[in-house]
Amino acid sequence: MIARLRLDPGTTGIGMTSQRVRDRLIERLREQGIRDERVLAAIRNVPRHVFMDEALAQRAYEDSAFPIGHGQTISQPWVVARMTELVLDAPRLPQKVLEVGTGSGYQAAILASLGLQVHTVERIGALLRGARKVLRGLGYNVRSKHDDGRAGWAEHAPFDAIVVTAGAAALEPALLDQLAIGGTLVAPVGAGTTQTLLRVRREDDGQLQQDMLEPVVFVPLLAGVVDG
Ligand code: SAH
Repeated sequence: MIARLRLDPGTTGIGMTSQRVRDRLIERLREQGIRDERVLAAIRNVPRHVFMDEALAQRAYEDSAFPIGHGQTISQPWVVARMTELVLDAPRLPQKVLEVGTGSGYQAAILASLGLQVHTVERIGALLRGARKVLRGLGYNVRSKHDDGRAGWAEHAPFDAIVVTAGAAALEPALLDQLAIGGTLVAPVGAGTTQTLLRVRREDDGQLQQDMLEPVVFVPLLAGVVDG
């Protein structure tokens, strides 16, 4: 038992974060339509409680968003799973991915655990510093920068996948410009407090194919950077 605890950094020994509790979340995600076994395994293996405030950690395997400070939230596991499934569901397996909105670092960790080269941009300095610490602690190699992610990350473009984890009324053209041929972008788009998940594929002939998928709720994509 002790050996097992040492081997699994996600097991704190607190019942609420145990493997059984995580398995229950995986069953729920299956019931809610998540089919990609790679994604389900990633959600099962990445310790979500490490990305959350200690006071909320015992609820980490509920399928809910939770506050992470600075008015932001860690995304709901279903939405993380769905966006990840959508970018993996491409004719060629993506390698380089851009995430806009690092937040807690949880979505970045899921993508990194699947072997993708993750680049992530966050506008709130304090959140980015926290996420970097957790990601490093878990051994994930994620490139990150403190910036307004609406401009993407031109130096590393093009990306095989782009995941926007904050909502806006319209898609940023700069992000689309950084999407590789054969690449997939997913973003919550909508003018109100709820959005629709938009998937854009850049086909091999360069044409863009757009699909509006299910309704989602994200915090807003905001302009500029803040440090604290
Ligand atoms: N992917 C995150 C979700 C965090 S919520 C997770 O797994 O925890 C969305 C995040 O997007 C917030 O941290 C917010 O500060 C950030 N954000 C909002 N507008 C942004 C912008 N223009 N550039 C970069 N990050 C942005």
